[in-house]
Amino acid sequence: MRKPFIAANWKLNKTVPETLAFLDGFIPLVKNVNDVDIVVAPPFTSLYAASSTAKGSNVKLAAQDVFYEDKGAYTGEVSPAMLADVGCEYVIIGHSERRQYFQETDETLNKKIKASRAHNLKVIFCIGESLDEREAGHTFDVLKREITEGLKDIPSEGLIVAYEPIWAIGTGRTATPEQAQETHKFIRGLLATLYGGASEELRILYGGSMTPDNVATLMACPDVDGGLVGGASLKAESFAVIVKLGKT
Ligand code: PEP
Repeated sequence: MRKPFIAANWKLNKTVPETLAFLDGFIPLVKNVNDVDIVVAPPFTSLYAASSTAKGSNVKLAAQDVFYEDKGAYTGEVSPAMLADVGCEYVIIGHSERRQYFQETDETLNKKIKASRAHNLKVIFCIGESLDEREAGHTFDVLKREITEGLKDIPSEGLIVAYEPIWAIGTGRTATPEQAQETHKFIRGLLATLYGGASEELRILYGGSMTPDNVATLMACPDVDGGLVGGASLKAESFAVIVKLGKT
């Protein structure tokens, strides 16, 4: 039985006071939710303050990115050890915005996943096809490449996969439950070739315009185990509704 998992990806949003105001409102709303793993990924600058506010609650923290080296002359970068030090339990790796705007490759992402696991950070690994790739019938090829290269030599422990069709991110155009289930089932098959029976335990999240209105239908798909939520996670009330509906 896979425990549902709902994560907020705030992207480039919220100052420290805004982060704390969100958590002050959100934590009481979800304090009785024990059957869903709840994760919030604020910007780096908010992590330290957020970790003391969230401490002892059922809300865990993720970073939105990480670098693969421990220390050294890498101006602007943040290491897995630094994230663990400020109270992060998870890190998002391979978001399509990182791949698209920051030229992150399958090889770089593989290094980031390895480094994160070496420091015991759990990894939310994002994959997904563009609209052109879907329309050209290349969705499964893209996902196969991203999984095979990204997860090369990575054990399954501490791994969560997020399927995020790029055409659905921030567009209001959600994948239909049929599209989500078909693709998640394909991804689970890819994970089975890497991990055998352990693939049945791995959570595969859906991401792309998930809202309080569509979360229950998406979560009803047998291979959808949770969500990675952008826009609808920025307000405590709407994200709390998604978390509560996410357990179906
Ligand atoms: C995301 O950025 O991970 C995402 C799913 O965004 P949105 O929910 O806004 O589509």
